[in-house]
Amino acid sequence: MNAYQTTNHFLEQAFELLKLSERYRTLLVTPSRELRVEVVIELDDGSIGNYIGYRVQHDNSRGPFKGGLRYHPDVDLDEVRSLASLMTWKTAVVGVPFGGAKGGIQVDPGQLSKRELERLTRRFVDQISVVIGPMVDIPAPDMNTNARVMGWFYDQYSRRMGFSPAIVTGKPVELHGSLGRESATGRGCLFAIREVLATAGKKLEGSRFVIQGFGNVGSFLARLLHAAGAKVVAVSDLSGGVFNGDGLDVPALLAHAREHGRVGEFPGSEPVSNAALLTLECDVLVPAALGHVLHEGNARDVRAKYVLEAANGPTSAEADQIFNERGIVCVPDIWANAGGVTVSYFEWTQNLQNLKWSEDDVNERLEEYMVAAHRSIHKLATEHRCTLRAAAFALGVHRVKEATDLRGLG
Ligand code: NAD
Repeated sequence: MNAYQTTNHFLEQAFELLKLSERYRTLLVTPSRELRVEVVIELDDGSIGNYIGYRVQHDNSRGPFKGGLRYHPDVDLDEVRSLASLMTWKTAVVGVPFGGAKGGIQVDPGQLSKRELERLTRRFVDQISVVIGPMVDIPAPDMNTNARVMGWFYDQYSRRMGFSPAIVTGKPVELHGSLGRESATGRGCLFAIREVLATAGKKLEGSRFVIQGFGNVGSFLARLLHAAGAKVVAVSDLSGGVFNGDGLDVPALLAHAREHGRVGEFPGSEPVSNAALLTLECDVLVPAALGHVLHEGNARDVRAKYVLEAANGPTSAEADQIFNERGIVCVPDIWANAGGVTVSYFEWTQNLQNLKWSEDDVNERLEEYMVAAHRSIHKLATEHRCTLRAAAFALGVHRVKEATDLRGLG
């Protein structure tokens, strides 16, 4: 199954659980709009760069479309469809007034200069501007896009439409971004695993974590886990991983990664490959990079008790089945990594009112949203004796279906 089929497989499970009639199924699966654009820029050497970009808007029955923008060579329509659909269920699970969308450009941003990346982003904004707007569709960062890219996005849109900070979230704090947005996804992951461990009478303190991916989400989560007294025993990035059974010194590792551009060769650690990292013995395995890294080929070798899905779609349908059989608890992406979109909602709200909240305010409200979502998911999982994933999808689907019904199809 590819990413889109996997998402639809999880959706089908929710449809069964809710005994949803056939009338709704196609409606809820099918994206509302799919836009494919050609993004042409002049490269620094005078040649022409030609890239394919997408914006898929899945559902807006609960509010404007919302979802990140990914720059990666593997971006294709099925991946963007899958990610857009996940956003619809995610915004519903945490109860923020948005629908779901996703975008991306098929490009290796590591091959482009800063100026080329800026031209690419500005051109993409022009190409998709017909379908976005602060009350229509609001993009955000995802893999290989960051606050700087969102700043260019905001500027390009505002040149055409006038002052429009609410067109995109994840902007630099100096440019109408929200305090606490950069750390929000990692912080939300921390709240999610804390709540799940607590329901089993366990604590973060002393729990052993392995994290794949040391970008925005993975590095903030590692920092927060370390501060909470958990042990981060291994982390990795694109270039490979580092391991220390007694727990890595995360603040020193962050400084090392900043200086060298990678986690590798961190003093006091042993090297570990990305493949071996996923099967290290630990309490919580955290995929925080790409999709489908846990699959039929390695799921039986995973030696974690919990899988915390910081990345979107890291677990294939087959691996999910294997984890269920083996009693490994998956904390599903559509709740685990929803901290990002929750604080994006806070940023959008601040922009619409021209207000600035304190970082403590943002973090406290984020905690409230994550904990409230856990209460609902846990209740459903207990009632239906199902997995957290099935419960989270059922919660999201129920809320979207209710909104669809109330708005009417006429
Ligand atoms: P990022 O670009 O900041 O970081 C990605 C990290 O993954 C980097 O450390 C990179 O080296 C590493 N990586 C890439 N390919 C890898 C591989 N093959 N093996 C191991 N490591 C690899 O991206 P991010 O924003 O941290 O996003 C990571 C994941 O979290 C994505 O799946 C994204 O969809 C999801 N997510 C992000 C946000 C957000 O707010 N940024 C919100 C929700 C979900």
